[in-house]
Amino acid sequence: MRAAVTRGRGAMEVVGVPEPGAPGPGDVLVAPEAVGLCGSDFHYFTGDIGTIDDPSTLYPRIQGHEAAGMILDVGPDCPAELVAGTRVALWPVGACGTCYACRIGRGNACVRISLIGVHRDGALQERLLVPAAQVFPLGDQDAALAALIEPVSIAVRAVVRGRVAAAERVVVLGAGPIGQALALAATDRGASVLLVDTLASRLARAEGIGADTLEAGGDGDLAAAVREWAGGDGPEVVIEATGVPGLVQQAVEVVAHAGRVVVVGLSADHTPVRVGDLPLKEIDVLGVSCCGAEEFAAAVDLVGRRRNVAAGLVTHEFTLARAPEAIAYAMAHPAEVMKAVVRVDAA
Ligand SMILES: [Zn+2]
Ligand SMILES: [Zn+2]
Repeated sequence: MRAAVTRGRGAMEVVGVPEPGAPGPGDVLVAPEAVGLCGSDFHYFTGDIGTIDDPSTLYPRIQGHEAAGMILDVGPDCPAELVAGTRVALWPVGACGTCYACRIGRGNACVRISLIGVHRDGALQERLLVPAAQVFPLGDQDAALAALIEPVSIAVRAVVRGRVAAAERVVVLGAGPIGQALALAATDRGASVLLVDTLASRLARAEGIGADTLEAGGDGDLAAAVREWAGGDGPEVVIEATGVPGLVQQAVEVVAHAGRVVVVGLSADHTPVRVGDLPLKEIDVLGVSCCGAEEFAAAVDLVGRRRNVAAGLVTHEFTLARAPEAIAYAMAHPAEVMKAVVRVDAA
């Protein structure tokens, strides 16, 4: 069978690899159909992973953590609903079960987290074994749209962490796929959303979501524009989804007293924060790592209900043979590519 193997920094090739074999107890064999590529994949591909000390341990790796596929075979001791021919989305989170985060039910923040497509081989291959607890049936959802469920699941986690409620004003910094998913998840809870980006082409894609948009950059004062939009006391929630460290500082400044700042964007860099804002405003600053199983199920439901919006976010499709071209193209064209999807099932 074929797989797109990342051999080293910036080097991916499609080659033959061994079959995974029959599923053991608690595992299912899945044929990935559609795999989304995202900014995390780009960082892994280029070896720019600030949180991993020794980049030489990254490769070789089969990437792909945003995936939908078809169950081909089911091992012993799996739930009865999982049968061959069921289309599923992959929840990439594997956890140790014993660390503090795991013991309190937050395996998505596990100290030894094992993500499909990051810490172990992912979905850019024709078949892989997955624990049954990490596959979620999709009903009649389209595979390419279902590849969006994983990024949407992060957004669901973010609005849960940020306790986003109806009629609240939520500012989302960054209108890439995660930012779009955040706008979708927050509007779905009845919040008003301002989506901010420097790229007008990305903001234009948010039309169907029902979010207001703000093109930032140049000499514009972001804080003033956000305050004008939110009015009153400022936005109750600000969600950072760009990975630009300085925006965390701005979020702390602009969020309402007793508000929440949710940090989704990854960065290895530092930023100063006016420490007094935390106690004086009594704000919560909350991180988000992937999501829990209930939130993944909620993302399956959300993408299913809002498939018209999801369809507008999948801008490019490539075959598995063209996976190396797909990742290079997506990295080089951020203004044009919202979500590039590799169709593993296409010839
Ligand atoms: Zn991703
Ligand atoms: Zn753990």
